[in-house]
Amino acid sequence: MSEPRKPAEQASSRNPFSAAKGLLAGMRTTAKVMVRGAHTQQYPDERPNLPPRSRGVIALREENCTSCMLCARECPDWCIYIDSHKETIPATTEGGRDRQRNVLDRFAIDFSLCMYCGICVEVCPFDALFWSPQFEYAELDIRDLLHEKGRLGEWMATVPPPPALDERAADPAEVVAANKPPRVAREASATPRAPRTPREPRAPRPTGAAEESE
Ligand code: SF4
Ligand code: SF4
Repeated sequence: MSEPRKPAEQASSRNPFSAAKGLLAGMRTTAKVMVRGAHTQQYPDERPNLPPRSRGVIALREENCTSCMLCARECPDWCIYIDSHKETIPATTEGGRDRQRNVLDRFAIDFSLCMYCGICVEVCPFDALFWSPQFEYAELDIRDLLHEKGRLGEWMATVPPPPALDERAADPAEVVAANKPPRVAREASATPRAPRTPREPRAPRPTGAAEESE
């Protein structure tokens, strides 16, 4: 059952001037849109003009990755797969200790599960993950969206350089640390100390005074 018409609607349907006004307003909008031109981009003939920091795909700089697993643990979709093993590095100095380091065997991201949140890029403490604006990696088989470390490394070529620093900004802490003069050996710079004079041995307390004080 249709609802009863409201009084304003009834008035406009009865008033021909009001109906014409509405018609003219609609035509004015149509004319405005016609002269403005279409916003549709004819992809792939026209390349979209995306911002340089767009989240297209994640690139891996393998040499920076320490297999710390932080990104894999923080990923809300669990779509980062890492395998690594430990390698012993022999001591370089006599009497020194051997060291151990992680060697990355596998690093893969499944882009069919990834939700492009960027948490992995943010949490990586060693600058091993970067966003690239490349987005043309659609596949016919969903299993091909699993990118192994070789392919993730290839995306590094498409990562834009970071924005330039403000001219008046202070130097980053890393640059300040790198520009510090080398530390002079303590033995060379320090003035030699005077030898200590041995203390006089204390005189034993008189036993009678000790008993009185008690
Ligand atoms: S962008 Fe988000 S969902 Fe995708 S791999 Fe990184 S943490 Fe996981
Ligand atoms: S990419 Fe970064 S956070 Fe992930 S394992 Fe490598 S070093 Fe750790």
